[in-house]
Amino acid sequence: MGPADRIAALEDYHRREVLACVRCPLSEGRTQVVVGAGDPDADIMFVGEAPGYHEDQQGVPFVGQAGKLLGRLLEGIGLSRDQVFIANVLKCRPPENRNPRPEEIASCEPHLFRQIQLVRPRVVCTLGNFATRLLSGRPEGITRVHGHELPITVGGTSLLLYPLFHPAAALYARATLSTLEADFARIPELVAGEARAEPRPEPEAAAPPPGPEAPPQVETAPEPGVAEGDERREAGDPGSQLGLF
Ligand code: URA
Repeated sequence: MGPADRIAALEDYHRREVLACVRCPLSEGRTQVVVGAGDPDADIMFVGEAPGYHEDQQGVPFVGQAGKLLGRLLEGIGLSRDQVFIANVLKCRPPENRNPRPEEIASCEPHLFRQIQLVRPRVVCTLGNFATRLLSGRPEGITRVHGHELPITVGGTSLLLYPLFHPAAALYARATLSTLEADFARIPELVAGEARAEPRPEPEAAAPPPGPEAPPQVETAPEPGVAEGDERREAGDPGSQLGLF
């Protein structure tokens, strides 16, 4: 599929499957589905955790305080929000910004996998624990794995996973902000070094085309030397979400 076909397929998928999604009870409490935003043909994709209050109101990801910081971090490497694609693990807001539940992630993950398959970014920057664990398929926390790129395959598309602290975790912690800035500074070199991969042909016995019923598979290449991190939580910002470290 060329870029125009992928963009059309993404729009169609968003309209048919994401905006109309009632796969989990979060659909009952949402104001809007927060599908994603930005360039549907971007080289870089950011994946956060879930919409908060402002995102739920506006239907756009990362428009609150954490989103403003994300915008500044992007500016720092010469990019704007329009030049990347921004999505979340969950497309609907959990009540009171509580952590996503495993069954909600399981319901919603086909949407993210399909987005990745159709945007086909070179680098996916996961923001915080939930996105990192989902896409790495590994249990290690963000404190240990941030800044360590990891080649993965999502639905036949090879890309580089690049785990980062969630911007909400850096809002009130100077040291975390410095680390996030330093990790961000490497994004351009990672993108330059990662040629956009053509999708690999699906094996004969592969499952039907991916969609909510048949999510694309995530495969991780082995990576040495990253151990389980000590998990810490910060709830200083009423709008921030937990599980950020
Ligand atoms: N935090 C997230 O993880 N995603 C958003 O869209 C906003 C805040």
